[in-house]
Amino acid sequence: MNHKVLTIGKGVILMTLLLLGGSAVYALYVLKRLPWQKPAFDHEFVGPCNASGGKAVLLFSKTNGFRHKSIEKGIEAIKAEGQKLGWQVDATEDGGYFNPTCLRSYKAVIFLSTTGDILTDTQQKAFQNYIENGGGYAGIHSASDMEYDWDWYGQLLGTRFRDHTFLPNPAPVATIVTEPVQHPATAGLPARWSKKDEWYNFKDNVRDMPGFTVLLTVDEQTYSAFWPKAMQGDHPIAWTRTVGKGRMFYTAIGHTASTFEDKNALMHIMGGIGWAACF
Ligand SMILES: [Zn+2]
Repeated sequence: MNHKVLTIGKGVILMTLLLLGGSAVYALYVLKRLPWQKPAFDHEFVGPCNASGGKAVLLFSKTNGFRHKSIEKGIEAIKAEGQKLGWQVDATEDGGYFNPTCLRSYKAVIFLSTTGDILTDTQQKAFQNYIENGGGYAGIHSASDMEYDWDWYGQLLGTRFRDHTFLPNPAPVATIVTEPVQHPATAGLPARWSKKDEWYNFKDNVRDMPGFTVLLTVDEQTYSAFWPKAMQGDHPIAWTRTVGKGRMFYTAIGHTASTFEDKNALMHIMGGIGWAACF
């Protein structure tokens, strides 16, 4: 091997290493995991908590990590759809709302694409008590990709986010299969319907876990997932369960802003929230 080939070889290796290192730092930056990117907490409740005590839900979209561009569209749509149903939808990114008095005045709390470490230990405890004593939880999209140190929260959902479609397309169009169950979150939905989204894979399949009801699955045959691999066939993306006296609803759809203009997706989301809130 001559000197020139060796130099080119070293250059290629150096460039590859720089590229990989740069990508890793950029990914950490986006996820807010760099050492100087500390999560922000709200210790004092600045409120006000104006829940009427009627059909009131709290829409929480705090992020201490990746922030989805679809959040604003989601707030707008859930408020508009809620108004049609006679609900009071209060949107906040203030973790201070998670105190016993304020939580009690809402029938459900919606976690809309929340990310990172967003609640203090006291706020987490208040939320756990709220759910176990009859409160409702509705998680949307990255609500399964947050608070990894909060064990109870992982148990509430049954599993956690593993990874999502990335190659060849991060958000492909795929067919969703509506499970044959009687539930407000599936009422009126076609047996099969399509949408564009980032398809989440989960660490475990909740189908066989006691107490869980699967509402939607994504048909893996209808999109290509070269890397990372999908869930080998049975792929639930929305489910419910009861927890103590409370109810949980989770749906993985919602990465794309177009989700909140999709008639079927909105029917599913609003049906799920309404069920969690016992409306
Ligand atoms: Zn996403």
